[in-house]
Amino acid sequence: MALNLVFLGPPGAGKGTQAKKFAAGRAIPHVSTGDMLREAVAAGTELGRQAKAVMESGALVGDDIIIGVVRERLARPDAREGFLLDGFPRTVPQAQALDGIMSGRAPLIVVDIAASDEELVRRLTSRRVCSACGANADVPAPGQPVPTACAKCGGALTQRADDREEVIRERLRVYARDTHPLLDYYRGRPTFRTVDGAQSPDRVAADLAAAIEDAARG
Ligand SMILES: [Zn+2]
Repeated sequence: MALNLVFLGPPGAGKGTQAKKFAAGRAIPHVSTGDMLREAVAAGTELGRQAKAVMESGALVGDDIIIGVVRERLARPDAREGFLLDGFPRTVPQAQALDGIMSGRAPLIVVDIAASDEELVRRLTSRRVCSACGANADVPAPGQPVPTACAKCGGALTQRADDREEVIRERLRVYARDTHPLLDYYRGRPTFRTVDGAQSPDRVAADLAAAIEDAARG
């Protein structure tokens, strides 16, 4: 049976990293709407031009544009045996459109990678980037100090302006507000699972694999 997956999770829960790794391991496409929009903008396609105009106006790209992108992507042959959606759906109308796209296909398995705000704030305020080579430093485990020098080149590590605590708390608040209705939309389904994202990345990966296997068995 095709493995049709949606990963949900707040910023800092490791969703993108886990999604990339899981999709590669199962040889299914990792469909990140953020990546697809950035690529479309860079390539200057019709969609890219539309998305760029919206983003430059400071607005979020609308449901109709994103739904069109996803519909087209999931219709490609490499998504026939499954896919992993990352960054979509973000709203209930998007989730309803996805259900329409999925009619006649294997049921969606939706996994929420959850973590407490305190752990997410700790991780996100610990993020550092090298001022010399641009590499991202590994986020320290709980109780470990935040690194100050780049492991690759020894350059000084700095914090991005949008990784300051007040900015992060606002981002998490907006995420919770927007995602709450989406979780309510999916929670009652037999193929909905929650995984504890506050664990080590290896532990989260193991729990994800087990949860997905369990959901796929029905
Ligand atoms: Zn460096």
